[in-house]
Amino acid sequence: MIDQSLKRTYPPGATIFKEGEPGDAAYIIESGEVEISMLRDGQQRVVARLQPGDVFGEMAIIDDGPRSATAVASDGAELLAIPREYIEQKMVSTDPLMKLFMQTILERLRYLEKRSDAGKGSAAYTQHQEQVLGRLRFHQDLLQGFERREFELRYQPIVSLTTGFIAGYEVLIRWRHPTRGLVNPADFIGATEETGLIVPIGAWVFEEACTQLKAFDRVRVERRPGDEPLHMSINFSSRQFIDENLVDRMSRFLEDAGVDPRHISVEITETLLMSDPDGASLILDRLKGRGLRIAVDDFGTGYSSLSYLHRFPIDTIKIDRSFVNTMLVNAKSRGIVQVLADLAKNLEMDVVAEGIEGEEQLHFLQALGCRYGQGYHFSKPLTDTEALAQLRDEGTGTAP
Ligand code: C2E
Ligand code: CA
Ligand code: CA
Repeated sequence: MIDQSLKRTYPPGATIFKEGEPGDAAYIIESGEVEISMLRDGQQRVVARLQPGDVFGEMAIIDDGPRSATAVASDGAELLAIPREYIEQKMVSTDPLMKLFMQTILERLRYLEKRSDAGKGSAAYTQHQEQVLGRLRFHQDLLQGFERREFELRYQPIVSLTTGFIAGYEVLIRWRHPTRGLVNPADFIGATEETGLIVPIGAWVFEEACTQLKAFDRVRVERRPGDEPLHMSINFSSRQFIDENLVDRMSRFLEDAGVDPRHISVEITETLLMSDPDGASLILDRLKGRGLRIAVDDFGTGYSSLSYLHRFPIDTIKIDRSFVNTMLVNAKSRGIVQVLADLAKNLEMDVVAEGIEGEEQLHFLQALGCRYGQGYHFSKPLTDTEALAQLRDEGTGTAP
């Protein structure tokens, strides 16, 4: 919790933060006085004088916006700082709807502050109001959609490029919207991350996919008894990991369900690794400690620092489909794919080439020694029924 190191002392007249800056903490006044002022119509106007016990600086943290005012320790002050990370943790575990309300209230408040400049009832305010309402409705739809079980899963085969048989699946979410039809994740995952709804949705995806893996495996054992067990790859957003108990719960679920964690890959992005390497290290160690595998998704598109490959316990890299798609016509992409395939081999990691759409691409990747592939050339993402039928059809023969 909050410790003594978070106490901060400011001499009389010292600026605590300035309007427009990003916020890194909220504060509680322990002693002294803090003056809050805003630049309005070209003048710095004092809007509040805060006393011991008062809280300030919380807005920029809750809605991730810039500081809406300047804070000065007019008489000198002793403050207790509540760091952004601490509040973010709390926000993630807050009920998504409550969080949305909080953000909406803040957004309005920020807007009202600005409105004194812009003029009441301006077109900009109306537009803003519509945006907020639109987003609110969308978030509500999502929440309701989750309660009404409108989310569905698809399974896209990951194929062994050496045997030609299915090695496992990547699970991909869809939203069966009552009026809009089947909605792709690109159009709603961002909103679930914003509201925190990704936490329960992500947990549902994980549990569903792991349960489904058992059904897939039963067919595999029946058809191809000597083969390696199938594998399930599951996408995770960085927000899901703010929940400290996530890994424990995942591990407990696998144990209860009788699923071997070594057959589950957690797909994360380079951004998660690079934006907070220490935090990521902790999470990855925890996952590895429970026997799960780690795959880095969309490899090469993010913050590509190859040095981190040594630092983190990564099992698999997934070469982004933008390289695979263009490698036969673009020398740069081809170079990148070659380097990544070599790198994976040298570091003894598995490599999955994403977005294979043609025979020629497949042959090129096979020649590079790339072990696994995924893409429309093999199969689109399938419903569970379709995937089961495809597994049965794979038959008992040897490599095609
Ligand atoms: P991704 O993890 O890179 O997933 C691969 C995407 O490429 C999928 O799109 C898949 O349908 C598509 N794809 C596969 N093969 C081909 C191909 O040969 N050609 C082309 N053009 N596309 C191909 P999808 O299902 O729309 O998913 C988009 C993204 O949404 C995913 O990208 C992933 O980042 C995210 N996502 C999907 N499901 C989940 C989930 O359960 N949780 C989280 N956090 N994110 C998810
Ligand atoms: Ca993925
Ligand atoms: Ca990907």
